[in-house]
Amino acid sequence: MSNIKFFEQVNRNFDKASAFTKYPTGLLEQIKICNSVYHITFPLKKDDGAIETIHAWRAEHSHHKLPVKGGVRYSPNADEDEVMALAALMTYKCAIVDVPFGGAKGAIKIEKRNYSDAELERLTRRYTYELLKKNFIGPGVDVPAPDYGTGPREMSWIVDTYGAMTSAAHELNALASVTGKPITQGGVRGRTEATGRGVYFGIREACNDAEDMRKLGLAPGIDGKTAIVQGLGNVGYYAAKFLQEGGATLVGLIEYEGAIYNPKGLDLEKVVQHRKETKSILNFPGATSTPQNAEGLEWECDILVPAALENQITAENVARLKAKIVAEGANGPVTADANEHLLQKGVLIIPDMYLNAGGVTVSYFEWLKNLSHVRFGRMGKRFEESMNKKMLQAVEELTGKKFPQNIFDQIAHGADEEDLVNSGLEETMISAYNQMNEIRKQHGGKVDLRTAAFISAIDKVARAYMELGIFP
Ligand code: NAD
Repeated sequence: MSNIKFFEQVNRNFDKASAFTKYPTGLLEQIKICNSVYHITFPLKKDDGAIETIHAWRAEHSHHKLPVKGGVRYSPNADEDEVMALAALMTYKCAIVDVPFGGAKGAIKIEKRNYSDAELERLTRRYTYELLKKNFIGPGVDVPAPDYGTGPREMSWIVDTYGAMTSAAHELNALASVTGKPITQGGVRGRTEATGRGVYFGIREACNDAEDMRKLGLAPGIDGKTAIVQGLGNVGYYAAKFLQEGGATLVGLIEYEGAIYNPKGLDLEKVVQHRKETKSILNFPGATSTPQNAEGLEWECDILVPAALENQITAENVARLKAKIVAEGANGPVTADANEHLLQKGVLIIPDMYLNAGGVTVSYFEWLKNLSHVRFGRMGKRFEESMNKKMLQAVEELTGKKFPQNIFDQIAHGADEEDLVNSGLEETMISAYNQMNEIRKQHGGKVDLRTAAFISAIDKVARAYMELGIFP
């Protein structure tokens, strides 16, 4: 663990990047500061009748665009500093991928596995009620989403509570008060896997840069690269899945109970099945196992994807890391000290605020779907399909040759919601990578990707503030 607080770590990276900008100090201070933090305590009646005091937070880092947006995590280590740091990262993340939101984050300080489903439901609903009472939730105000320890089920409790507390007559857009919902509750197809898919797209972009790969002594492309993923939750599982499907060899997996390694490759689905059956990834057939999970970060690989929590790669373990690329699936997994060490060693770090932005990008699509009250693709899919068919049939008539049926169907297919969401996500991750790379080039390669990402974010947020007329 680093003894520098998480928010301070984020601000150090901010300061490093702001030195490359020309904005006045006052404006930079305004961008950095966390606008509002709400610390909530409320009683939870446990199933056995005992009363427990629950601590929870919602931090709204920047109101330069509304609504503000960010996940809610359930974690025993949550505190005010952590939510402020994560909310700040959300501000910068949204700016980098051009999602028109300010940044926010929420947390409930609990070890989720110690609570029954009924207790989790009660505390999620109470948390939502508390947010609503203080105007910390609403489609145009503050829109939560899943994060560590939460998923579609928690989001559906939130939207249901929000809907129950705000009558439909007044709140036509109640569904847009939270994203990451199940499809039946107004969710969008592709949201669950979005962050992991975005992590894959981001790594793919980085690996396609022949010059960066040459410096690392690697060939361009994901194909054949070895990867280790820490955390098999929402982000880590899908990142591992898409990396494997994209041609990478998954040599190591790390969970809280330990780590496993096989240089010949691990079959992700078989490991997940083994974990379901034995309640642990350890002793997976053919793999080396250790209960010392942090050791897994130090094993040989091309790409290391920390996708669990912050403060995983620190001054203490950084010298032992062997990965050539550190792809930050989690928020803040590398401390500021460790970051400098890795950069000096020539390791390519793909920063969190870019790499895991797929979640908020698709959350933005979900919010748009909720506000427009129509599924993406509903209007155009059939029209597109019939035009494509007509075109293909015309080609067949002109050439006197028939397309094989599977090719015909593939080309004729009109885009449905999932196609559109995935395509929007891919476009976002590619163009944001190009923007960061462009900034690196403008500075003659003197800035790393994280600094370039911060410069991009600072520039966009600063311009938004200046256009508000506050800082002429
Ligand atoms: P999750 O709760 O779905 O999964 C986290 C996983 O990490 C769990 O399986 C947990 O057992 C494991 N874990 C915990 N401590 C560990 C340790 N020391 N070593 C190895 N594994 C450990 O959470 P998530 O939603 O996947 O979030 C993970 C990270 O990604 C967080 O930093 C979060 O802020 C960030 N993130 C999440 C999203 C999202 O859409 N869910 C979006 C952007 C960023």
